[in-house]
Amino acid sequence: MSRANFEFISGSLCLDFVDTLGNRRAEPVEHLVTSGDLDRWLDAARLVCPFRKRATAANLADARELRDAIYRLALTAIDGTAAAIGDVKTINRWSVQMPLRPVIKGVHFELEASYPVKAAFSTIAADAIELILGERRSRIRTCPECRMVFVDTSRPGKRRWCSSASGCGNRAKVREHRARANSSL
Ligand SMILES: [Zn+2]
Repeated sequence: MSRANFEFISGSLCLDFVDTLGNRRAEPVEHLVTSGDLDRWLDAARLVCPFRKRATAANLADARELRDAIYRLALTAIDGTAAAIGDVKTINRWSVQMPLRPVIKGVHFELEASYPVKAAFSTIAADAIELILGERRSRIRTCPECRMVFVDTSRPGKRRWCSSASGCGNRAKVREHRARANSSL
C-alpha cells in the first residue's frame, strides 16, 4: 500500500494520525472521509494485520474522536494548559485495550490482534501518552503556517515549521523576505 496519499512527517505515530485532519488553521482538509480511508491510513502507517476485518463507520467515528482528543492534549503540552477530562478519558479508554502485538513470520514480523482496528487505536493512544507526557513533551510544536502538530527532532530543538511538501517554511521565509525588501524601499 502506498504511503503517498498521506504524510508521515510529524516525527511520531500519534501526531501523524492527528495530521490526517490537515490545514486546521484555515480550511481543514479531512483525509479520513470514509472508513475505507481509515483502512488505507492504517495500512500506510504499517499498523497492518493480514486478513483483518475492514474498518466500520463506528470505527471511523472512534478514530476521529481519538484524533481530536490527541490533538487537544498535544496543544496542552505547547501552551501549558490543563488537559480536558473528556480527552484524557478518551485516550485512556483506548490505551488500555489490547494493542497490536508483533508476531514472527519467517525473517519478518507482522502486527496482529483479535480486533485489529481497535488494537491499532490502542497502539496510537499509547504512543500519544508516551509522547505528550514523556521526555519529548517540550519538543511538540505546531506549524505557524498550517497548524500541523509535529515533534521537533532536530538537535538544537529550534524548528518552527513543519516539513510538509506544501512548503510552509519556504512560504513564510519568502513572505518575510518580501516584507523586508518592501520596508527598505
Ligand atoms: Zn506547515
